[in-house]
Amino acid sequence: MPELVILNVPQDVLSRMRRLANKGDEEAQRWLKVELWKDYTPPFACFLCDGEVHEVNATLSLPDKKPRKREKQQMMIAPLCDACDGLPMLVRWNRIIKLMKAIRPGWHPRGAAWGR
Ligand SMILES: [Zn+2]
Repeated sequence: MPELVILNVPQDVLSRMRRLANKGDEEAQRWLKVELWKDYTPPFACFLCDGEVHEVNATLSLPDKKPRKREKQQMMIAPLCDACDGLPMLVRWNRIIKLMKAIRPGWHPRGAAWGR
């Protein structure tokens, strides 16, 4: 059975690594695809469809609950399969929002961290 893994990463760390990875920084790319997940054994379950993910090529990240004072905003990050990564953005977001509401009652998309 593939395992659904959702990690918590501070938002500032994640956005910095994403920015570097998008510029072609190999270490940042490796961190996102490999280092983050090295404590877990693939296959992972795709966050959206439960499909098997053997190698993390795409991830989904969402802001976690609002942080308390002086705590950093955390992001939840989970693997996505190639098929779901290829979904049209609106379809993907509809599924994500539906799932998140099931997982975390009261959750809704908002705040400065949304969409980054
Ligand atoms: Zn999927």
